[in-house]
Amino acid sequence: MVERTLAILKPDCVRRNLAGQVLARIEKAGFRILGMKMVKLTAETGGGFYAVHRGRPFFDDLVAFMSSGKCVPLALEKENGVADFRTLIGATDPKDAAPGTIRRDFATSKGENIVHGSDSPENGKLEIAFFFSEKELIQNA
Ligand code: UDP
Ligand code: MG
Repeated sequence: MVERTLAILKPDCVRRNLAGQVLARIEKAGFRILGMKMVKLTAETGGGFYAVHRGRPFFDDLVAFMSSGKCVPLALEKENGVADFRTLIGATDPKDAAPGTIRRDFATSKGENIVHGSDSPENGKLEIAFFFSEKELIQNA
Protein backbone atom coordinates (compact mmCIF):
# COMPACT_ATOMS: atom_id res chain seq x y z
CA MET A 1 0.00 0.00 0.00
CA VAL A 2 1.20 3.51 -0.77
CA GLU A 3 1.73 5.23 2.58
CA ARG A 4 2.62 8.71 3.73
CA THR A 5 5.17 9.27 6.45
CA LEU A 6 6.62 12.32 8.13
CA ALA A 7 10.37 12.74 8.29
CA ILE A 8 12.09 15.54 10.17
CA LEU A 9 15.71 16.42 9.56
CA LYS A 10 16.46 17.31 13.18
CA PRO A 11 18.52 20.31 14.36
CA ASP A 12 21.75 18.27 14.55
CA CYS A 13 21.32 17.30 10.89
CA VAL A 14 20.80 20.89 9.72
CA ARG A 15 23.48 22.34 12.04
CA ARG A 16 26.10 19.85 10.83
CA ASN A 17 25.29 20.57 7.17
CA LEU A 18 24.11 17.01 6.59
CA ALA A 19 20.67 17.89 5.22
CA GLY A 20 21.73 17.43 1.60
CA GLN A 21 23.36 14.05 2.20
CA VAL A 22 20.39 12.74 4.18
CA LEU A 23 17.93 14.05 1.62
CA ALA A 24 19.92 12.33 -1.15
CA ARG A 25 19.58 9.00 0.65
CA ILE A 26 15.84 9.55 1.04
CA GLU A 27 15.49 10.33 -2.68
CA LYS A 28 17.67 7.37 -3.69
CA ALA A 29 15.48 5.07 -1.58
CA GLY A 30 12.52 6.01 -3.76
CA PHE A 31 10.52 8.34 -1.54
CA ARG A 32 8.51 11.04 -3.28
CA ILE A 33 8.71 14.40 -1.50
CA LEU A 34 5.20 15.88 -1.29
CA GLY A 35 6.15 18.71 1.04
CA MET A 36 9.31 20.23 2.47
CA LYS A 37 9.90 23.30 4.62
CA MET A 38 12.29 24.70 7.20
CA VAL A 39 10.95 25.48 10.66
CA LYS A 40 12.20 26.43 14.09
CA LEU A 41 10.21 24.63 16.76
CA THR A 42 9.61 26.18 20.17
CA ALA A 43 9.24 24.45 23.53
CA GLU A 44 5.49 24.57 22.93
CA THR A 45 5.38 23.25 19.37
CA GLY A 46 8.20 20.74 19.95
CA GLY A 47 6.48 19.50 23.10
CA GLY A 48 3.22 19.27 21.20
CA PHE A 49 4.74 17.20 18.43
CA TYR A 50 6.28 14.76 20.93
CA ALA A 51 3.33 14.88 23.36
CA VAL A 52 3.16 11.07 23.39
CA HIS A 53 6.53 11.08 25.20
CA ARG A 54 5.52 13.65 27.85
CA GLY A 55 6.51 12.33 31.29
CA ARG A 56 9.34 10.16 29.98
CA PRO A 57 12.78 10.86 31.52
CA PHE A 58 14.18 12.09 28.19
CA PHE A 59 11.24 14.39 27.35
CA ASP A 60 12.70 17.71 28.54
CA ASP A 61 16.04 17.09 26.81
CA LEU A 62 14.21 16.01 23.65
CA VAL A 63 12.13 19.18 23.53
CA ALA A 64 15.18 21.36 24.27
CA PHE A 65 17.09 19.64 21.46
CA MET A 66 14.26 19.81 18.95
CA SER A 67 13.81 23.54 19.61
CA SER A 68 17.57 24.27 19.57
CA GLY A 69 17.79 25.01 15.85
CA LYS A 70 16.16 24.70 12.49
CA CYS A 71 14.38 21.50 11.41
CA VAL A 72 13.33 20.34 7.96
CA PRO A 73 10.01 18.46 8.01
CA LEU A 74 9.39 16.35 4.92
CA ALA A 75 6.07 14.83 3.86
CA LEU A 76 7.03 11.61 2.08
CA GLU A 77 5.13 9.00 0.10
CA LYS A 78 6.11 5.52 -1.07
CA GLU A 79 4.81 1.99 -1.34
CA ASN A 80 5.20 0.56 2.20
CA GLY A 81 6.60 3.98 3.07
CA VAL A 82 6.31 3.89 6.87
CA ALA A 83 8.23 0.66 7.43
CA ASP A 84 10.67 1.34 4.59
CA PHE A 85 11.54 4.72 6.08
CA ARG A 86 12.14 3.21 9.52
CA THR A 87 14.43 0.65 7.85
CA LEU A 88 16.29 3.42 6.01
CA ILE A 89 16.94 5.42 9.22
CA GLY A 90 17.67 2.51 11.58
CA ALA A 91 17.14 2.07 15.32
CA THR A 92 16.64 5.05 17.64
CA ASP A 93 20.10 4.60 19.19
CA PRO A 94 22.76 4.77 16.46
CA LYS A 95 24.76 2.12 18.34
CA ASP A 96 21.91 -0.33 17.68
CA ALA A 97 21.20 0.85 14.12
CA ALA A 98 22.12 -1.48 11.25
CA PRO A 99 25.17 -0.67 9.13
CA GLY A 100 24.35 1.60 6.21
CA THR A 101 21.37 3.24 7.91
CA ILE A 102 21.17 7.02 8.23
CA ARG A 103 21.34 7.01 12.01
CA ARG A 104 24.24 4.54 12.13
CA ASP A 105 26.20 6.59 9.62
CA PHE A 106 25.48 10.11 10.91
CA ALA A 107 23.98 10.20 14.42
CA THR A 108 26.05 10.94 17.50
CA SER A 109 23.70 9.73 20.26
CA LYS A 110 20.28 8.29 21.02
CA GLY A 111 18.95 11.80 21.58
CA GLU A 112 20.68 13.58 18.70
CA ASN A 113 19.83 11.03 16.07
CA ILE A 114 19.54 13.12 12.89
CA VAL A 115 16.08 12.21 11.70
CA HIS A 116 12.52 11.47 12.77
CA GLY A 117 10.26 8.92 11.08
CA SER A 118 6.60 8.16 11.77
CA ASP A 119 5.89 4.80 13.42
CA SER A 120 2.56 3.93 11.74
CA PRO A 121 0.53 4.99 8.68
CA GLU A 122 -2.03 6.61 11.02
CA ASN A 123 0.67 8.63 12.79
CA GLY A 124 2.20 9.43 9.42
CA LYS A 125 -1.00 11.20 8.41
CA LEU A 126 -1.38 12.97 11.76
CA GLU A 127 2.26 14.07 11.87
CA ILE A 128 2.20 15.36 8.29
CA ALA A 129 -0.88 17.41 9.22
CA PHE A 130 1.06 18.86 12.18
CA PHE A 131 3.44 20.58 9.74
CA PHE A 132 1.64 20.80 6.39
CA SER A 133 -1.73 21.99 5.16
CA GLU A 134 -3.40 19.95 2.40
CA LYS A 135 -2.50 22.52 -0.24
CA GLU A 136 1.18 22.29 0.72
CA LEU A 137 1.23 18.59 -0.24
CA ILE A 138 1.92 18.49 -3.96
CA GLN A 139 1.42 15.15 -5.72
CA ASN A 140 2.67 15.96 -9.21
CA ALA A 141 5.17 18.64 -10.05
N1 UDP B 1 14.88 9.67 22.73
C1 UDP B 1 15.89 9.87 23.66
N2 UDP B 1 16.14 8.88 24.58
C2 UDP B 1 15.43 7.74 24.63
C3 UDP B 1 14.40 7.53 23.69
C4 UDP B 1 14.15 8.52 22.76
O1 UDP B 1 16.56 10.91 23.65
O2 UDP B 1 15.71 6.87 25.49
C5 UDP B 1 14.60 10.72 21.74
C6 UDP B 1 15.23 10.42 20.37
O3 UDP B 1 15.60 11.66 19.77
C7 UDP B 1 14.09 9.75 19.64
C8 UDP B 1 12.90 10.55 20.15
O4 UDP B 1 13.20 10.80 21.53
O5 UDP B 1 14.25 9.83 18.23
C9 UDP B 1 11.56 9.86 20.05
O6 UDP B 1 11.66 8.59 20.68
P1 UDP B 1 11.08 7.28 19.98
O7 UDP B 1 11.13 6.18 20.98
O8 UDP B 1 9.75 7.60 19.36
O9 UDP B 1 12.19 6.95 18.86
P2 UDP B 1 12.11 7.03 17.26
O10 UDP B 1 10.70 6.70 16.85
O11 UDP B 1 12.52 8.43 16.88
O12 UDP B 1 13.12 6.01 16.79
MG1 MG C 1 8.91 7.46 17.50
